[in-house]
Formats: sequence, C-alpha cells, structure tokens
Amino acid sequence: MSARLEVDLERIGHNARALVALARVRGVSITGVTKAMLGLPELAHSMLDAGVVGLADARIENIERMREGGIRAPITLLRSPVPSEIDRVITAADVSCNSEIATVERLSSAAVDAHRRHGVVLMVELGDLREGLLPGDLLGAFGHCHQLPGVEVVGIGANLACRSGIAPDDTNMTTLSDLADALTRRFGVHLRVVTGGNSANLTWLQSTNSVGRINDLRLGESILLGCEPLRGLAIAGLHQDTAALVATVVESKRKPLQPWGERARVPFAPIGSERSTSELGCGWQAILAVGHLDTDPAHLTPPVGVRIVGASSDHLVVVSRCQIQLGHEVRFRPGYAAFARAMASPYVEKLVTYAPSLACTGANSPAEPLQNR
Ligand SMILES: *Cc1c(COP(=O)(O)O)cnc(C)c1O
Repeated sequence: MSARLEVDLERIGHNARALVALARVRGVSITGVTKAMLGLPELAHSMLDAGVVGLADARIENIERMREGGIRAPITLLRSPVPSEIDRVITAADVSCNSEIATVERLSSAAVDAHRRHGVVLMVELGDLREGLLPGDLLGAFGHCHQLPGVEVVGIGANLACRSGIAPDDTNMTTLSDLADALTRRFGVHLRVVTGGNSANLTWLQSTNSVGRINDLRLGESILLGCEPLRGLAIAGLHQDTAALVATVVESKRKPLQPWGERARVPFAPIGSERSTSELGCGWQAILAVGHLDTDPAHLTPPVGVRIVGASSDHLVVVSRCQIQLGHEVRFRPGYAAFARAMASPYVEKLVTYAPSLACTGANSPAEPLQNR
C-alpha cells in the first residue's frame, strides 16, 4: 500500500491513564471512545487497562468488532440507533444514547423479545444543534421511557462542540445538572450517569469550580492525540506524538510555484494559501501517493521545511527547499480528521505498536500490521 498510518498504543494508553487520573480528582469517570480506530480491540484493551469505566462507539459494526475481539466491558452506542440495526444494538451494546421516544420504544420491544435489559441515555440539546431532546421536553420523555419494559433510563447526557463548535461551559453544564436534579425530584430516581460531553469538555473540567451532577465524560480525540479539540492545544503531560501518516514520493521535480492558464474550480476544497507557496521562493515540488480518499489533507502537519500546497483524491502536493527524492517517505502528524479518515481508508496500511502488556505472546516485534476489514 502506498501510505501507512503508524499508531503507538503505548503512548495512547499513557494518555488514557493521565486523563482518567485528571478526571478522577473531580469525581468524574471516563468512558473511552473507540470510533476513530474503528473499534480496534487492542485500543479497547489499552483504554480499559488505563481505568476507563466503559467504552463507547458511534457505530454498531465497531461495537460488534470489539465483542468478537473478546471485550466484555460495558459498551455504549453513541449515535442514535438506526431502526434496521435495533436487534444488533440490543445484542452487542449495553447502553445506547437516544433522543427519539419512538426509537426507545423499538429498543424496548426488541429487548423484551430478546429477554434482555438495555440501558438508555437520554441526550439533551444544549445549543450545538446536533442530537438531543430540547430541555423542555426531557421530563416528559423520561416519564414515558421510564415505564417501558426491557429498557432502563440509566442517565442523561449532552454533546457539544462537534457540529457548531459551541464550547462546554458552566452555563450549559449547569443546565444539564439542573435537569438531572429535576428528574430526581420529579421521579425519585437516581441517575447513574450524567455524561457531560466529549474531549471538548476538558477545558471546562479543569477550570470549573463545580462539576455539579456531571459524573462522566466520553473521550476519544484527547486520548488518541493528546490534544483538546476546541483550540487544538496540547494537554500537559500527554503524548501528542501518538500517530504518523507516512506517504511515498511518486514525482519529484523543480516546478514553477504558480499555476498558469485560465483558472476554474477544483473538485476538493483547496488547501494551503497562495502566500505560503510564494514565500518559499523556490520550487521543489513532490507528489505523495495519498489524497482526500485516504485522509484529510487540511489536517496534516508536515515535517519542518515542507509545505502542503494542494491535494486531490489520490495526490498530495508538497513544496520544499530541498528536493525530496522519488521513492522517499514523508511523515506527517495527523489531526483528528486526518487520523480518523486514514484509519477508515482501505488504501492505508495500519501499523499499530502495542504496549508491552498487550503484545501478542511470543511475538518479538511489538509492531504488527493490521488487516483491513
Ligand atoms: C465522537 C463522540 C464522542 C467523543 O468525542 P472526542 O472529541 O473524540 O472526545 C463523545 N460523544 C459522542 C456522542 C460522540 O459522537
């Protein structure tokens, strides 16, 4: 394969451990989110070793992959179940996040048919305008779901920052806490889980005077890349060098920095600015065998002395002061979007380095290429 994603699970395990400790002092547990690595069972193991209380993933396929990989820990489905997948959700997931009563009703009858009990987290809309019941609708929805057989409403939750970039803060987190209190008062129930959000909640967690009723966060990106997503800042004490996307040069030539001819639109959003290219002054241009189908080129950090100036479906164009020879490899640090898309691309080889405790018994090499599914 022309490109390779290298992932260091030992460093990721360290990140998970550090975040579990950071949250524990605030009385908050961590649920490890596995979706950016497609539910890789080894990632699940390293998160569980680090002390997460459970796992979560947006896709039922990934949850089934973890079950087939021998993971028995509690797993939550993050995305609302698709009607055609309800039976699989009941079988493979312990809990699912929900914001539609009709879906919870379907879960209820499927759980009854399967002689199982399924946990439900009711998601609340706090302003980012992705999933969630409007706060004013929560008590009514809870009252209805509460008496359905086969399901248990184990808690409430919210998700911010992913669609509109709305930051978690004391105002929206207090709204969620107050709703948890209101449910306790009205229905006399003890909510096991009040899950405040994702990696974007870490800045709030570290600065707030009171976490209120929030007792869990669902973390993916911060564990995998050691960064908080709101500003892309490194989190102190965590590894940021957990992954590299490695691509091979298939053309290397001195070329003009500016294109010529009449300009029309391009199929993918342009990346890199005109200014950054002309600043360089000289034009060693290399084409790497990786593109939009394999990763998100806008979220790759090139090595020093190399600039990304363009990308198409299968090509990444870089310029540099010194020539990068044909056949040479260039290593990039992926941001979350670049990492997740590379992980999901069938064209990218995955090379995952395991923590010593997770290395396959008898294997001398700690690194092992994974089969694409
Ligand atoms: C993806 C996702 C998460 C994890 O988000 P990160 O930013 O990777 O920490 C948490 N909750 C929900 C509902 C998600 O979809």
